[in-house]
Amino acid sequence: MMEQATFAPRTTTDHKTERFAPLLDAHASIAVVGAGAFGGWTALWLLRAGFKVTLIDAWGAGNSRSTSGDETRVTRSTYGANETYFDLNVRALELWESHQKLWNKSLFFNTGILWFCYEDKPEMIEATQPFMQKHGLSYQYFSTKEASKKFPHINTSDLHHLVFDPYGGYLKAREGCGAVMEAFVREGGNYVNASAKPSSIRNGKMDSVLLSNGETFVADSFVFACGSWLGQLFPEVLGKIITCTKQEAYYLGVPATHSCLFDEMPVWVDLDGKDFYYGIPKNAYRGFKVGVDQRGEIFEPTNGSRMMNMEVYKKATAFMAHRFPSLANAPLIENRVCHYENSPDGNFILDTHPEAANCWFLGGGSGHGYKHGPALGELAAKVISGSKSLVPLFQMR
Ligand SMILES: Cc1cc2nc3c(=O)[nH]c(=O)nc-3n(C[C@H](O)[C@H](O)[C@H](O)COP(=O)(O)OP(=O)(O)OC[C@H]3O[C@@H](n4cnc5c(N)ncnc54)[C@H](O)[C@@H]3O)c2cc1C
Repeated sequence: MMEQATFAPRTTTDHKTERFAPLLDAHASIAVVGAGAFGGWTALWLLRAGFKVTLIDAWGAGNSRSTSGDETRVTRSTYGANETYFDLNVRALELWESHQKLWNKSLFFNTGILWFCYEDKPEMIEATQPFMQKHGLSYQYFSTKEASKKFPHINTSDLHHLVFDPYGGYLKAREGCGAVMEAFVREGGNYVNASAKPSSIRNGKMDSVLLSNGETFVADSFVFACGSWLGQLFPEVLGKIITCTKQEAYYLGVPATHSCLFDEMPVWVDLDGKDFYYGIPKNAYRGFKVGVDQRGEIFEPTNGSRMMNMEVYKKATAFMAHRFPSLANAPLIENRVCHYENSPDGNFILDTHPEAANCWFLGGGSGHGYKHGPALGELAAKVISGSKSLVPLFQMR
């Protein structure tokens, strides 16, 4: 759901000089491989910029194997001291709002986020304050006493206070990917359902990708937005950079006597500094979702077993019984095993292959990428087409 508290600055990008990609010809053809949150939005923005774009996905936009294929994802304003992600999120929220109107689809549910704080000034929230002020935004603070009155189903006894971020909420994740793909096709993009393999690189360029339907697909530029699969596709360059870990989310059945309290509460995040439990209420009556942000075991995203880890589940339900006592005996009504596509420092990656200037990598969502999809796609389209310089935080070199 989120990065573990704060990001280390990407040291390899220190002292970087501004780097631009060569300006793309207005009629250039671009293949975007991967129709998750990163690839789908990037393909849409490249198409809108006038390029000839083909979006390729092995299993479809928002498929169950993909990281973007879960029901819901959290969107929040708090990003610690990281202004890049804060600003990206502000733009993303504008774009989620405008696109859901444009497509007449509810994708963003502005429930707000309730942060459970154990200390006076948790960095995740307080370090964000200057950026909040810059944008004229503010949080609401609750003492534990005030919170207990407002949210009687929450045990606040071990908390210092609670903070409410009114701008956050949740996004419909797989539906969002489907909506982006539909818009892409409606606006004139070409979608191919196939698995793509990079071809060899010659004279500093990649000419084509090999598709699982036997075709060779030729384009001027390639964007690989393949989430957790990036490390497998480019083992020499990304094998050690993108690691895939098994992550779990559970949907608990709330007691019928308390369903209003649970359904009407905001998204919440527990800032315990260890497990980072978080939850999303209500969404389409699927149950009360609880996720665990701690990195799980290494995972293989195509064939890895999606059976849940009982130890993680037991810990999560013990936590839930403590934080929400009326859920002490709540049944598990659904669950989902997903995976993080971790970069070494939690920052996204938007950079070219070291040996091919027309082959782009876009990934490293690291458990917090979905919300940024529309704004990251917009930014990536500008960087890839050469109209904006690369973002130092997202560069590999
Ligand atoms: C449990 C969990 C909770 C999370 N919570 C949040 C949250 O609350 N908020 C948030 O903002 N983010 C959250 N995230 C992170 C977020 O979901 C991801 O960062 C984001 O969805 C990554 O999108 P992506 O497009 O990079 O990858 P993906 O969605 O995995 O998309 C990659 C696509 O590439 C395709 N593909 C792969 N290889 C090939 C190939 N060779 N040829 C063709 N297609 C290929 C796949 O089919 C897939 O569709 C969470 C992640 C997890 C696992």
